[in-house]
Formats: sequence, C-alpha cells, structure tokens
Amino acid sequence: MQINGPTNRPQPTVAVVGAGISGLTCARSLADHGLPVTVFEKSRGVGGRMVTRRSDNGAVFDHGAQYFTVRDQRFQNCVDSWQHAGLVQRWTGRIVSLCDQNKEQDKSATARFVACPGMNAICRHLAENLEVRTNTRVAAPSRCQDKWLVSDETGSEIGRYDVVVISAPAPQAAELLQGSLHLARRASSVKIAGCWALLVQFPARIDLACDGAFVHDSPLSWIARNSSKPGRNSDLETWILHASAHWTQGHLEEPPEAIREPLLGAFWDATGARATIPSYVVAHRWRYALPTEPLPDRYLFDRDANIGACGDWCSGPRVEGAFLSGAALAERLLALVE
Ligand SMILES: Cc1cc2nc3c(=O)[nH]c(=O)nc-3n(C[C@H](O)[C@H](O)[C@H](O)COP(=O)(O)OP(=O)(O)OC[C@H]3O[C@@H](n4cnc5c(N)ncnc54)[C@H](O)[C@@H]3O)c2cc1C
Repeated sequence: MQINGPTNRPQPTVAVVGAGISGLTCARSLADHGLPVTVFEKSRGVGGRMVTRRSDNGAVFDHGAQYFTVRDQRFQNCVDSWQHAGLVQRWTGRIVSLCDQNKEQDKSATARFVACPGMNAICRHLAENLEVRTNTRVAAPSRCQDKWLVSDETGSEIGRYDVVVISAPAPQAAELLQGSLHLARRASSVKIAGCWALLVQFPARIDLACDGAFVHDSPLSWIARNSSKPGRNSDLETWILHASAHWTQGHLEEPPEAIREPLLGAFWDATGARATIPSYVVAHRWRYALPTEPLPDRYLFDRDANIGACGDWCSGPRVEGAFLSGAALAERLLALVE
C-alpha cells in the first residue's frame, strides 16, 4: 500500500506533533528517507522531558530525565555514535540507594549515560536541519478530504498533511487523537505519574559521599549532584531533587513556593548533610512525568486514517523506550511508502 497512491506521486507529507526524543527520532528517520516532515512543538525549544535549564550564572540543571540506560542493540548503536560524536558520555558518579541516612547501598555498577552539555543535546542534534516549529501548540487534527488539517490552539490552520504522528505524553495524545477514536481510547487508558522537581544551587560543595541517590521512605525518590555529570561546570554545586510520585500526587496543585521548603527539608533528612542556604532554588512541576503502566504496543497506528502515536507510554517508560517507539513508527510508515 502507498500512503499517497502510486509511487510516482510525491512523497507523503508528515506532521509530527512533539519534539521530544520519540517524535524527533521518528521525524529524523522519515526525513533521512526523503519524506517532507514538519515537527510542531508547543515549548520554545526541543527536548520534551529531556530538558536542560540554565540559570543566569551559567549553572546547568537537567530537571527531567536524569540519565539513560541501554538494553536494546539498536539503541546501543545509536548511543555509540553519539558517544563517538562527543554528544553522550558515561556518568561515572557514585550512585547509591538511601534507606535512611545511615544505610546506603552502592548502585554505581549500572552503566548510566548523559547527553552533554545538557540532556537536551540529543534532541537538538536530532532536530538539526529538520523543519521544527516551536511555540506552536497543536489542536486535534481533523480530516479534510484526504488530508489531515492541522491547526494551532487558536484554530488557525498551520498545514495539511497526508500523515500525522502524535508524540505527546499519553493524556495529551488522547486529546490530539480525536481523529481516530480507538487510538484515543488506548492513549487515555495510560496513567502517568507526576513529579515535582527542585533545581538547587548551593554556594559550596555539599559534603556527601555520593553523586546521586535513590531515596526511600521520604517525600523524595531521587537526588543528584547535577554538576557531577560530565560536561557540566563542576565549580557550581547544582542538585536536582525529585519528589516521589506519591508525594507529588498529594501536592500536585500547590504553588511552586510551597514545594521548596518541604523538599529541601527532606534532602537534609535523607542525606544527613549539614543544612546550607541555597543560592538558587526553583520548583518545576511535571504533571506528566512517567507512565506507570505503558501499553504493550511499541507504537499505535491507524492504517485507515494514517494517524499514529509514539512515545514512552508505548512499551517503555524511559528515554530508551521513547527512542525505540519513535524509530519503530518511522519504520512502519516507511514500509507503507515503499
Ligand atoms: C522528572 C523526570 C525524570 C525522568 N528520569 C528519567 C531517567 O532518569 N531516565 C530515563 O530514561 N527517563 C527518565 N524520564 C523519562 C524520560 O524523560 C521520557 O521517557 C522521555 O523523555 C519521553 O520522551 P517522549 O518523546 O516520549 O515525550 P516528551 O519528551 O514528553 O515529548 C513530547 C513533546 O510533545 C510536546 N507536546 C505536547 N502536546 C503538544 C501539542 N498540543 N502541540 C505541540 N507539542 C506538544 C511536549 O511539549 C513535548 O516536548 C524522566 C522523566 C521525568 C519527567
């Protein structure tokens, strides 16, 4: 089957909604095979949950994805090439599991990788030479004859495409997939846990014998010395604190100012380090952080309507799963065009 009829016709045009790693992996692969692709992203930059924020004094904070691991050979190959290009490095910081401040278990053996100089570097790399329209929040695409009509949130048309790929987190994807009700139903069945993140800079090094820790029995689930990751400025003592899904759920609608003190207090409690006044603290709410039960499918595709979806909520709630989901959907679309 051809998405666009006989093969001597122009290649089908594709709109990808979302410039996280799943959407950009899909878009990159399609574009590399000659398909005209446009990526729409509601934020001002690419990366999605692989995000990096820089403070005025040059401190770098990865407040979404912290690092990634590699299990699949296809992802491994890609990570190898990114490492070769200096885009990815192994994070060799000391990682522990903290049950209380006196008990810790070393977790450093796992190979953990980070993008450099910030976690968004991979998505920036994937987006190179792609048509990416940022600051564009897309509304649910609708059918108009044999095309998908894509509009922004004000209702202004921004293009017509043969194929649409939705790569937003599942609850947002469900709204965008109204043109295929059975895909919308699948997306809406996925639950996603939220996460409050605290971005903290201290005026001096915090005296702790670890660079990252999984935290238990605490409002926090994870803490990391961001400045210990390769490619970051190690002179600036920066930390990321992630609240647990349970704690976040109970505080989801609170203002950021109400989040800072409880999470900082939990940090001192969990680590036993001497409390210090931070020089920078910002709380960031991830309403949709991690899918609790992703779908078993690698991606979704409605063959009759030519609309599909990918993301970490299809098959794997991590960077690797999102990458593999985007890659698999691109492969399916390319097979239809050939
Ligand atoms: C706090 C936190 C910690 C994490 N830690 C790790 C970790 O340590 N290791 C790991 O492997 N993974 C981690 N993850 C998960 C990892 O970040 C995700 O699995 C992965 O980045 C998801 O990529 P994605 O492309 O599926 O989705 P996203 O990155 O969410 O990309 C979707 C994009 O769609 C855009 N979008 C949504 N709606 C619209 C619209 N209407 N119009 C236009 N654009 C739209 C969004 O702005 C976003 O950029 C973490 C996530 C969070 C939040």
